[in-house]
Amino acid sequence: MSVQKAGHKNRHKKQGLLFVISGPSGSGKTTLLGKVLLTKVLRRKLAKSISVTTRSQRSGEREGQDYFFISPAEFRRLHKAKKILEWTRYLGYYYGTKKDALEKSLASGRHLALCLDMRGALRLKRLYPKNTVTVFIEPPSLKELRKRIAGRCCQTKPEEIERRVRLAQAELKNSRRYDYVVKNNNLTQAAARLGDIILKEIGDFKTTARCN
Ligand code: ADP
Ligand code: 5GP
Repeated sequence: MSVQKAGHKNRHKKQGLLFVISGPSGSGKTTLLGKVLLTKVLRRKLAKSISVTTRSQRSGEREGQDYFFISPAEFRRLHKAKKILEWTRYLGYYYGTKKDALEKSLASGRHLALCLDMRGALRLKRLYPKNTVTVFIEPPSLKELRKRIAGRCCQTKPEEIERRVRLAQAELKNSRRYDYVVKNNNLTQAAARLGDIILKEIGDFKTTARCN
């Protein structure tokens, strides 16, 4: 289920769009986007922006595909050199979007999907108001969210799970600041809804994203 809050008219036709996917940790951003990126209609049109982060790699995560895992010193160097377009600090770690890759993508007309927190979503909306579409992924409940965070990776410590759930409670209050809200109850339905939002925004009304 989703709610549309804003239209995106008069955008620069030749430029790519930025689809910013936000939501609490464990709400399903990575999983849903992964499914959408596998669909026949979207895999040629949409690429995922790969952030840099100073947090350690989880089992199953791939360098350069999920994140670029870098040291705090490297993050500071990139930031000082103005190569980071937007960034955030989450549970003591830094996360950021590199400027060159994003601007290249926009200029070439390629659409990009980014999994960012609210700070990042609002920053991109300010920087590229006509080209940014924000989508909030809502978990069915906090109980289910806790279960998903715990089930995701055996390395997540119980106290970190609780910190992520506490942050989620605050994040859920801000869902109205997004263009769309997608509830991630049933995975297949939520992925199809996210795919349909993206197709609608890029102007491909005729097709539907089939996410199995
Ligand atoms: P995020 O990227 O928002 O932090 P993930 O995509 O890593 O969240 O999802 C967290 C966990 O929840 C993963 O183990 C994923 O497989 C699971 N998950 C995601 N969506 C659903 C869903 N609709 N039903 C059940 N499990 C889900
Ligand atoms: P995680 O550790 O669960 O992968 O990510 C923690 C939080 O950081 C999530 O809300 C995620 O969307 C956000 N995040 C990841 N990369 C970036 C980024 O480059 N910029 C911003 N602003 N947030 C990010």
